[in-house]
Amino acid sequence: MIPLAFATCPYCQSPTEYVDSAKIYKTSYGPALACSRFPFCDSYVGCHTATGLPKGTVANKYLRLWRKKAHAVFDALWAPATGVPLFKRSAAYFWLAEAIGVPLEDCHIGMMDAAKCAQVVDACVKHTASPVVPPSSGVYVDWLMPHGWVLRGKRVTSCHMYAATLDLEPLHLLAERIGLERRWLDAKGLVPHYDLTEGKRALALAAGAQPIDDRAGFARIYRPIRDMWLAEKGRAGAIRDAAIWSPLP
Ligand SMILES: [Zn+2]
Repeated sequence: MIPLAFATCPYCQSPTEYVDSAKIYKTSYGPALACSRFPFCDSYVGCHTATGLPKGTVANKYLRLWRKKAHAVFDALWAPATGVPLFKRSAAYFWLAEAIGVPLEDCHIGMMDAAKCAQVVDACVKHTASPVVPPSSGVYVDWLMPHGWVLRGKRVTSCHMYAATLDLEPLHLLAERIGLERRWLDAKGLVPHYDLTEGKRALALAAGAQPIDDRAGFARIYRPIRDMWLAEKGRAGAIRDAAIWSPLP
């Protein structure tokens, strides 16, 4: 059963039909919806493997390239190949709908024309390239909490030490002053940091680190630092993606 919105080819007004995608790609990737005049009318769209329903309206080559490009830039916001996503998937669609001025329920790239896809590309590139104002410089330690550390069989509290700048050198220097090794920097998460025991925390404060003691301090200091890294890692993803997008004809 072809949903009514997908039943007619917008290019030649012929009815559409389900075909095996082998008819289009030589290899089968499951069903596709194509113009019944294919290949004379070169318009088709893939189908969702789970539901078998078309992913959008049938599209000619020009529109297929635009949709592919729009998906590449948009998906990089919530599912980057590397780095940290800027959004969760649902939040990304919410943001996109507002950015390009369509109702959320109509915000599907598979339903868009080339002009709308161009708007998607524009909005996503602008968003990832927006300037970031870094917070003031300094090294901070947050409060001691049970973070699952066990030393000599005893559960101990620990805290984090991080810098307010993308330049990690001030952080490394302070860490070295209190007897930590650079390779102990935890860079796997969003904000690169050192983990400190209670004793190391006292040394860090004595060496000039500033304490974050409460929720208000956390909101004022940690959040801008987190947002700075979020933007930085999102931007790295956007630059990487820009390098692999093929130019449109
Ligand atoms: Zn057609």
